[in-house]
Amino acid sequence: MIKEERRSNVLAKANNLLHEYFGFDHFRKGQDKIIQKVLQNKDALGIMPTGGGKSVCYQIPALMLQGITIVISPLISLMKDQVDALHQAGISATFLNSTITVAEMHERLNNIMNKQYNLVYIAPERLESPDFLELLNRIEVSLIAIDEAHCISQWGHDFRPSYLLIKRLINKLYPKPTVLALTATATPQVKNDICDLLHIDEQNTVLTGFGRENLRFKVVKGQNRDLFLTEYIQKNSNQAGIIYAATRKEVERLHHYLYKKGFRVGKYHAGMAERERDHYQEQFLYDDINIMVATSAFGMGINKSNVRYVIHYHIPRNMESYYQEAGRAGRDGEESECILLFAPQDAHIQTFLIDQSEMDEQRKEHEYAKLRKMVAYGHTESCFQQYILHYFGEPHVQECGTCGNCTDDREQVDVTVEAQMVLSCIKRMNERFGKTFITKVLTGSADKKIKSFRFDQLSTYGIMKNKTQKEVNEFIDFLTAEGYLRPSDGAYPVLMLTSQAVSVLRGEEQVFRKEKVRAAKIAADNALFEVLRSLRKEIAESERVPPYIIFSDQTLREMSTFLPRTEAELLQIKGVGQRKLTSYGAAFLNEITAYCKENGIQENRTVNQTEDMTAKAVSSRSNKVKSHHITYQLLIAGRTIEQIAAERALTERTVEGHLIKCGEEGMEIDWDSFVPKKYVSLIKDAIQQAGTERLTPIKELLPAEVSFFMIKAYLQKNQ
Ligand code: ADP
Repeated sequence: MIKEERRSNVLAKANNLLHEYFGFDHFRKGQDKIIQKVLQNKDALGIMPTGGGKSVCYQIPALMLQGITIVISPLISLMKDQVDALHQAGISATFLNSTITVAEMHERLNNIMNKQYNLVYIAPERLESPDFLELLNRIEVSLIAIDEAHCISQWGHDFRPSYLLIKRLINKLYPKPTVLALTATATPQVKNDICDLLHIDEQNTVLTGFGRENLRFKVVKGQNRDLFLTEYIQKNSNQAGIIYAATRKEVERLHHYLYKKGFRVGKYHAGMAERERDHYQEQFLYDDINIMVATSAFGMGINKSNVRYVIHYHIPRNMESYYQEAGRAGRDGEESECILLFAPQDAHIQTFLIDQSEMDEQRKEHEYAKLRKMVAYGHTESCFQQYILHYFGEPHVQECGTCGNCTDDREQVDVTVEAQMVLSCIKRMNERFGKTFITKVLTGSADKKIKSFRFDQLSTYGIMKNKTQKEVNEFIDFLTAEGYLRPSDGAYPVLMLTSQAVSVLRGEEQVFRKEKVRAAKIAADNALFEVLRSLRKEIAESERVPPYIIFSDQTLREMSTFLPRTEAELLQIKGVGQRKLTSYGAAFLNEITAYCKENGIQENRTVNQTEDMTAKAVSSRSNKVKSHHITYQLLIAGRTIEQIAAERALTERTVEGHLIKCGEEGMEIDWDSFVPKKYVSLIKDAIQQAGTERLTPIKELLPAEVSFFMIKAYLQKNQ
């Protein structure tokens, strides 16, 4: 009993520190469990997805433990950022790595001796120094946190021999410090390895799910990629995003293409000079440019939390790489998008790279199998989030309801006749030519090469002349993406018919095409958010830190929704801790007050949603309103879903998701109002037929205009 009580006291203290220093209201999934273990001196392993909040798991104990916390991390480029962020929060910390001068090193080592820091970040190589180990032995080390702990395992994708030195360090220190290993990527084999090597009891492994609720996964296929990119970036011109391409050459081409269009874009690949790479990286971190076109070399050690989208221009080699790269979006918890521009022929680039690598045959087979799973992701018609989580060994997850497939309500058009035109033309050209030339024949171009091959004599010559070359090109892309055409390997692929195409030519199979995926805005415009964003940029420049270290996008979003007017109210905003309130509170409150005045919001505040919520939030911190509860408040105040979405800068799907969550928590909602009467009996019949395990089979039995939300609303009412 006493033990229980002590435990809850300790957690309450940890929670207070979380609020005081970081401005967060409660621990995220897994954080409290991990912290509890650490504070009970239990060595532990935490496995959480990127952006899950691993740092807090050692930063909070570091504030509570008597001795120093050593953080071992292989990502030198991140250390400065993390230490800067800690300073901003009012926590004393430093780092030791090869980027500092000898004098700085001496000074910092001295300060360590004098117990001036709560946390010290080091690269594992530092453990090679006997002097350093000696120094650690002379002070009290309470906790050793090992970031990217998978690097210790030879089975991981990123083994670093220097990580093995950690064992030596642990054995040398007396009394033995607590050990906390953290990683985002651990297969069962790697997990066992970490536990074995660091003597962590299996029971002290905390594994949160890999799901990232704020990420919306989409696949765009059979569309012109450059045009989609342009439209997407134009629509989201204020947002930061990363575009991954498979080769250096493509990075150069895309960078040039986007730069010429006037976008603020940088580039990053291993073929560039280090200085140039660093220059672009810094510009990206500091929000001076907002788009980074890069190969997979970019991203390790990038902590930028306000990346709003990650677009893969080409398919990556496996799901692990995809999820790691796509996961760089939305670390701050704000809604973000991960889009794969899928063209099955791109798998050839990856096949080629695997083929050329020095792996042995068995390993190559393993890699090909992984690549096939990645290609299958591009083709899947079920929930993308579910597909990913199944892949990572979480079989029992629900459809997310927000990804490209879950929300796909595009019309299908029968294009069998057009498909037959294209396919028969390719057949008549003996399957020996590439897309551009085929298009020219179909559109009846006067190109001399056509005459020389006598293709102007074909019955399919000019058969699609009522369409532009661009349209026909895109249609051929679509047929390729759907598996009717197979491109040959090499830089100038020749298109050949697949067996599926033969069925279409024989009239045994129909071809349906959906409308194009339109590039959409990730978040609605919000004028105050923009004002606060420029204020943040100004402050960041004067303090020489990246803007997201001052406040995250999520914090600015909350400010522009809640409109705090007093320090007490500002302190209730997620991400505003005591130290940041003192440093920046006045500047932000001034902007908010001025904005409200200019827009006459003051007078309206009683009818505005903020009044209630802020009052409630201020009255008790543990009562701080959750996002879906704010949505609920607005709903019962009479707003429609559309209005709530606009007011809160959320998408309608998110608002719908909030309402479902409220329903699940037992809050009263008039579900009937979301389901038009004429569909009620149809939905009922469909549910009877398809059961309630999955929503997609129900939706498929209903007219296209019946949305997933209507089905969910019906189920809320009737289950
Ligand atoms: P990871 O190392 O797991 O990728 P970080 O430690 O960098 O993740 O945290 C990701 C983001 O989540 C950061 O912006 C951090 O401030 C935020 N965060 C961490 N814990 C919480 C929490 N309890 N509540 C809200 N935000 C949090």
